[in-house]
Amino acid sequence: MPAADNAVLVVAGLTKVYGSAATRVEALRGLDMTIRSGEFVAVMGPSGSGKSSLLHLLAGLDQPTGGSIRIGGRDLAQLGEDERAMLRRRQIGLIFQSFQLLDTLTAQENVALPLAIAGCPANEAGERAAQMLGNVGLAQRRQHRPHELSGGEQQRVAIARALVIEPLLVLADEPTGNLDSIQGERIMALLRKLVEERRQTMLMVTHDASHAAMADRIVCLRDGRAFSGPPALDLDQRDVGTRSVPDVRSMNIPCVECSVAPPSCPLSAIAFVAPCASDALEHVSPFRGTP
Ligand code: ADP
Ligand code: MG
Repeated sequence: MPAADNAVLVVAGLTKVYGSAATRVEALRGLDMTIRSGEFVAVMGPSGSGKSSLLHLLAGLDQPTGGSIRIGGRDLAQLGEDERAMLRRRQIGLIFQSFQLLDTLTAQENVALPLAIAGCPANEAGERAAQMLGNVGLAQRRQHRPHELSGGEQQRVAIARALVIEPLLVLADEPTGNLDSIQGERIMALLRKLVEERRQTMLMVTHDASHAAMADRIVCLRDGRAFSGPPALDLDQRDVGTRSVPDVRSMNIPCVECSVAPPSCPLSAIAFVAPCASDALEHVSPFRGTP
């Protein structure tokens, strides 16, 4: 399948096999997917359908068994370990179900961290982080630490951290999974607004059909393969910025599993922090004003 000119992500024939012999599991079995610049795509699917495996591979945290992943025109398989880490730090924003903020840092320091790791001077990183916190409605919470914030506010900080690097692609794994329904809907309205304002390309895994309906397009995973979901909704139907979204439970999405508990921390804390922990320590102190 020829890639679209403005494709940010092109996945072709992607396979992932874990284990061997008796423990062999085919998590992904030839998955094809293209996401164009500025598209917001929701991925749904039952437990075990390969959603987390897909996100791990797209984030370059694991290697596929077969097939290819191109992000911004670059084939991940052609990149060395260092180049993959660089791509992850500079061009991919990650949003986790469990927020994954560092509790010893303020909101602003958490948001500034990926900039610092990417080599941005401390003053500029601090200013950009403050501005981004303003964009997610947390200008007054910049100096708060994560435990001083509500779950919804913590997820806003995490969204600011993912977007502040102006990534090519944001990967969000159940971003509302740890929030109550009202906070979840507020986060979805914010994501929708940010995606539009910034023309941000985003792939979001969710179990919630009404949240998936906020995306431009829904892709269903089943048994490691992708299927198109229901047609995209008109923007006017989405009532952006309010809590009102159409009830897509009536839309007969075949592979939606609405009743299962969300998986715990599908992408681990280590995924975000560990690849750059040593750089992080080096860069954190300037923000904190202490050695
Ligand atoms: P989902 O996120 O949709 O629930 P996963 O990608 O976590 O699905 O898992 C897909 C399949 O791969 C499941 O059968 C799961 O048990 C298996 N799997 C996932 N990760 C591993 C692993 N590290 N080792 C072995 N099997 C795995
Ligand atoms: Mg999962």
